[in-house]
Amino acid sequence: MSFLGISNLLAIARSGDYGKLMTLDGILSTISPVIPFLLILELLRAVFYKRFKIEDYKVPFLIFVANRVISRFISIAAIAFCIGLLEPLAIFKTTFTWYWLIYGYIIWEFGHFIYHYLGHKVRLFWCLHSTHHAPEKMNLSVIYSHFFLEAPYADVIRTSICILAGVNPPLLFFIMFIDGTWGAFIHAGENLLKDGRLGFLNKIILTPSHHRVHHAKNPLYMDTNFCNLLNIWDKLFGTFQDEKKEIAIEYGITRKINARNFFDVYFGEFACLARDIKKAPGLKNKILYILKPPGWSHTGDHKTASVIKKNMRHEGNPLQYRNFGKMPEETGVN
Ligand SMILES: [Zn+2]
Ligand SMILES: [Zn+2]
Repeated sequence: MSFLGISNLLAIARSGDYGKLMTLDGILSTISPVIPFLLILELLRAVFYKRFKIEDYKVPFLIFVANRVISRFISIAAIAFCIGLLEPLAIFKTTFTWYWLIYGYIIWEFGHFIYHYLGHKVRLFWCLHSTHHAPEKMNLSVIYSHFFLEAPYADVIRTSICILAGVNPPLLFFIMFIDGTWGAFIHAGENLLKDGRLGFLNKIILTPSHHRVHHAKNPLYMDTNFCNLLNIWDKLFGTFQDEKKEIAIEYGITRKINARNFFDVYFGEFACLARDIKKAPGLKNKILYILKPPGWSHTGDHKTASVIKKNMRHEGNPLQYRNFGKMPEETGVN
């Protein structure tokens, strides 16, 4: 019941008071089951077209079960703590109106961009985020593939930025709800939505197509499209990338990984980092491994995403990951 998100709807149906559907609570209760419903539809379509492979869904679901209780609990506590601590320091106060919603959403996207950018550019945070990038097929179950500490860390950054910028808590929760729903929908895989561009919307907002690009390990696509719904910050900071017809998306991360093994997906990057720290000479190098982007090496032989992109441009490579030659095997670059 909780997975399907229909308990509130059932309560309304039981009480017979359908007027409640028009309240904010009622609207939220109606939208909540959409993603779980789409996930089931995606599974059924995959089965129907005989493309269903249990392996494509198994690991994210195991992770979902592992995360469910503990991650939620820490996240809610972290959000409450940030609001209590930072609300008195807000630069001004906003109210629950449509224009403040637009303002709040732009600020929220900025917070999301910061959290997500760090998740890709700081090795320690990449250890938390890589669980989400490990799946080698895109489908709605990828929504649940997260390291349990990632949500609390993301929420601390996003909530702090929003509260300091004056976004009031009810508005913030509303934005979080839209963000969560859209953020889930953009993981709709090819089984559900063949062309993720959504027509003209592809020009205005961030679509499943953009997020597929984000999950790709092709050099051109790596470290792009960090936003969730409004991709203004990607366009402003130069990390925006459209899906190119001639470059087929290859999902996953670039290190050697067994994407069907729960432990490799969940702890693999930590093990790689620990190995790099162990072999690094001197304390400074050890700390740099934690803070530098994935692929950074104390030997100067960096295989970070930006170095790979630079080399690719230099060599006029046909932009395909498989054509790039030897890729790093020990560190995750994404
Ligand atoms: Zn990411
Ligand atoms: Zn994603």
